[in-house]
Amino acid sequence: MPIFLLSFKADLENLTDLQPREGCDDPGYGYFMKLKCENCGEITPKETCLTLSEMVSLPNSRGTANLVQKCKFCGREGSVLMIPGQGKPLTLDLSEAQAAAPLMVFECRGFEPIGFLFADGWKARSISGTAFEIDLSTGDFAEYDEEGECPISVSNLEARFKVVHKKSKRGQTVYE
Ligand SMILES: [Zn+2]
Repeated sequence: MPIFLLSFKADLENLTDLQPREGCDDPGYGYFMKLKCENCGEITPKETCLTLSEMVSLPNSRGTANLVQKCKFCGREGSVLMIPGQGKPLTLDLSEAQAAAPLMVFECRGFEPIGFLFADGWKARSISGTAFEIDLSTGDFAEYDEEGECPISVSNLEARFKVVHKKSKRGQTVYE
Protein backbone atom coordinates (compact mmCIF):
# COMPACT_ATOMS: atom_id res chain seq x y z
CA MET A 1 0.00 0.00 0.00
CA PRO A 2 1.59 3.29 -1.00
CA ILE A 3 2.21 5.81 1.76
CA PHE A 4 2.11 9.54 1.05
CA LEU A 5 3.58 12.35 3.12
CA LEU A 6 1.78 15.67 2.86
CA SER A 7 4.09 18.61 3.47
CA PHE A 8 3.48 22.32 3.14
CA LYS A 9 5.34 25.58 2.85
CA ALA A 10 4.46 29.27 2.92
CA ASP A 11 5.95 32.72 3.22
CA LEU A 12 5.46 33.86 6.81
CA GLU A 13 5.72 37.52 7.72
CA ASN A 14 6.40 38.14 11.44
CA LEU A 15 4.74 34.81 12.24
CA THR A 16 6.00 31.40 13.30
CA ASP A 17 4.74 27.92 14.21
CA LEU A 18 1.93 27.76 11.66
CA GLN A 19 -0.06 24.59 12.39
CA PRO A 20 -3.62 23.30 12.82
CA ARG A 21 -5.37 24.88 15.80
CA GLU A 22 -4.93 21.97 18.22
CA GLY A 23 -1.48 21.04 16.96
CA CYS A 24 -0.36 18.88 14.09
CA ASP A 25 -2.53 15.96 15.21
CA ASP A 26 -5.62 18.16 15.66
CA PRO A 27 -8.42 15.56 15.72
CA GLY A 28 -10.93 17.92 14.14
CA TYR A 29 -8.85 19.52 11.39
CA GLY A 30 -10.38 18.85 7.96
CA TYR A 31 -7.98 17.68 5.23
CA PHE A 32 -9.59 18.44 1.86
CA MET A 33 -8.00 16.23 -0.77
CA LYS A 34 -8.53 15.36 -4.40
CA LEU A 35 -8.22 11.64 -4.98
CA LYS A 36 -7.39 9.77 -8.16
CA CYS A 37 -8.66 6.22 -8.70
CA GLU A 38 -5.70 3.89 -9.26
CA ASN A 39 -7.85 1.53 -11.31
CA CYS A 40 -9.37 3.84 -13.94
CA GLY A 41 -7.64 7.18 -13.36
CA GLU A 42 -10.85 9.04 -12.55
CA ILE A 43 -10.30 12.10 -10.34
CA THR A 44 -12.92 12.95 -7.71
CA PRO A 45 -14.67 16.12 -8.93
CA LYS A 46 -14.72 17.64 -5.45
CA GLU A 47 -12.23 17.47 -2.61
CA THR A 48 -12.99 14.78 -0.05
CA CYS A 49 -12.69 15.81 3.62
CA LEU A 50 -10.79 13.59 6.05
CA THR A 51 -10.36 14.15 9.78
CA LEU A 52 -8.33 12.15 12.32
CA SER A 53 -11.35 11.81 14.59
CA GLU A 54 -13.53 10.11 11.98
CA MET A 55 -12.91 6.42 11.58
CA VAL A 56 -14.93 3.89 9.62
CA SER A 57 -14.55 0.14 9.56
CA LEU A 58 -13.29 -1.48 6.39
CA PRO A 59 -15.78 -3.76 4.68
CA ASN A 60 -14.76 -7.44 4.72
CA SER A 61 -11.90 -6.78 7.12
CA ARG A 62 -11.22 -6.05 10.77
CA GLY A 63 -9.33 -2.88 10.03
CA THR A 64 -10.43 0.74 10.14
CA ALA A 65 -9.66 3.75 7.98
CA ASN A 66 -10.45 7.45 7.92
CA LEU A 67 -12.14 7.16 4.55
CA VAL A 68 -13.74 4.36 2.56
CA GLN A 69 -14.96 5.48 -0.83
CA LYS A 70 -16.10 3.96 -4.11
CA CYS A 71 -14.86 5.40 -7.38
CA LYS A 72 -17.89 6.97 -9.08
CA PHE A 73 -16.65 5.86 -12.49
CA CYS A 74 -15.49 2.23 -12.14
CA GLY A 75 -16.97 1.33 -8.77
CA ARG A 76 -13.67 0.17 -7.31
CA GLU A 77 -13.47 0.69 -3.57
CA GLY A 78 -10.52 2.35 -1.90
CA SER A 79 -9.57 3.59 1.53
CA VAL A 80 -7.29 6.11 3.19
CA LEU A 81 -5.78 5.76 6.66
CA MET A 82 -4.20 8.77 8.35
CA ILE A 83 -1.01 8.20 10.37
CA PRO A 84 -0.55 10.85 13.10
CA GLY A 85 2.61 11.78 14.94
CA GLN A 86 4.60 12.95 11.91
CA GLY A 87 3.62 16.61 11.59
CA LYS A 88 5.67 19.64 12.60
CA PRO A 89 4.75 23.35 12.75
CA LEU A 90 6.06 25.58 9.98
CA THR A 91 8.51 27.91 11.69
CA LEU A 92 9.76 31.29 10.52
CA ASP A 93 13.21 29.71 10.01
CA LEU A 94 11.78 27.01 7.71
CA SER A 95 9.80 29.64 5.83
CA GLU A 96 12.86 31.85 5.32
CA ALA A 97 14.79 28.83 4.06
CA GLN A 98 11.90 28.07 1.64
CA ALA A 99 11.69 24.66 3.33
CA ALA A 100 8.56 22.59 3.86
CA ALA A 101 7.16 21.19 7.11
CA PRO A 102 5.60 17.71 7.21
CA LEU A 103 1.90 17.80 8.03
CA MET A 104 0.33 14.33 7.86
CA VAL A 105 0.97 10.84 6.50
CA PHE A 106 -1.68 8.94 4.53
CA GLU A 107 -1.71 5.23 3.75
CA CYS A 108 -3.77 4.84 0.61
CA ARG A 109 -5.42 1.79 -0.92
CA GLY A 110 -6.98 2.22 -4.35
CA PHE A 111 -6.64 6.00 -4.42
CA GLU A 112 -3.78 8.39 -4.93
CA PRO A 113 -3.97 11.88 -3.36
CA ILE A 114 -3.22 14.49 -6.02
CA GLY A 115 -4.42 17.77 -4.59
CA PHE A 116 -4.81 19.47 -1.22
CA LEU A 117 -6.96 22.44 -0.28
CA PHE A 118 -6.10 24.53 2.79
CA ALA A 119 -9.07 25.17 5.08
CA ASP A 120 -9.98 27.18 8.17
CA GLY A 121 -8.65 26.03 11.55
CA TRP A 122 -5.00 27.08 11.73
CA LYS A 123 -2.99 29.03 14.28
CA ALA A 124 0.38 30.76 14.51
CA ARG A 125 2.31 33.04 16.86
CA SER A 126 3.52 36.49 15.95
CA ILE A 127 7.04 37.64 16.84
CA SER A 128 5.50 39.55 19.77
CA GLY A 129 4.20 36.22 21.12
CA THR A 130 0.55 36.93 20.34
CA ALA A 131 -1.46 33.90 19.23
CA PHE A 132 -3.55 34.26 16.09
CA GLU A 133 -6.32 32.07 14.71
CA ILE A 134 -5.85 31.75 11.00
CA ASP A 135 -8.22 30.90 8.16
CA LEU A 136 -6.33 29.66 5.11
CA SER A 137 -9.39 28.78 3.02
CA THR A 138 -8.92 31.82 0.78
CA GLY A 139 -5.29 30.87 0.14
CA ASP A 140 -3.64 33.58 2.21
CA PHE A 141 -3.98 35.61 5.41
CA ALA A 142 -3.06 39.14 6.43
CA GLU A 143 -3.66 41.09 9.64
CA TYR A 144 -2.01 43.64 11.91
CA ASP A 145 -0.42 42.68 15.22
CA GLU A 146 -1.27 45.54 17.62
CA GLU A 147 1.01 44.14 20.33
CA GLY A 148 4.08 43.87 18.13
CA GLU A 149 3.05 46.84 15.96
CA CYS A 150 3.79 44.94 12.79
CA PRO A 151 1.89 43.43 9.87
CA ILE A 152 1.56 39.66 9.86
CA SER A 153 0.76 37.49 6.88
CA VAL A 154 0.78 34.05 5.31
CA SER A 155 1.21 33.89 1.54
CA ASN A 156 2.42 31.63 -1.27
CA LEU A 157 0.95 28.52 0.35
CA GLU A 158 1.99 25.28 -1.27
CA ALA A 159 1.17 21.69 -0.42
CA ARG A 160 2.74 18.58 -1.87
CA PHE A 161 2.25 14.82 -1.61
CA LYS A 162 5.31 12.60 -1.82
CA VAL A 163 5.59 8.82 -1.77
CA VAL A 164 7.47 7.74 1.36
CA HIS A 165 8.43 4.47 2.98
CA LYS A 166 7.97 3.27 6.52
CA LYS A 167 11.34 2.79 8.19
CA SER A 168 12.66 2.10 11.64
CA LYS A 169 15.36 4.40 12.97
CA ARG A 170 16.75 3.98 16.50
CA GLY A 171 13.56 2.23 17.54
CA GLN A 172 11.36 4.98 16.07
CA THR A 173 9.04 4.65 13.10
CA VAL A 174 9.78 7.28 10.48
CA TYR A 175 8.32 7.97 7.04
CA GLU A 176 10.80 9.19 4.44
ZN1 LIG B 1 -12.14 4.19 -10.88
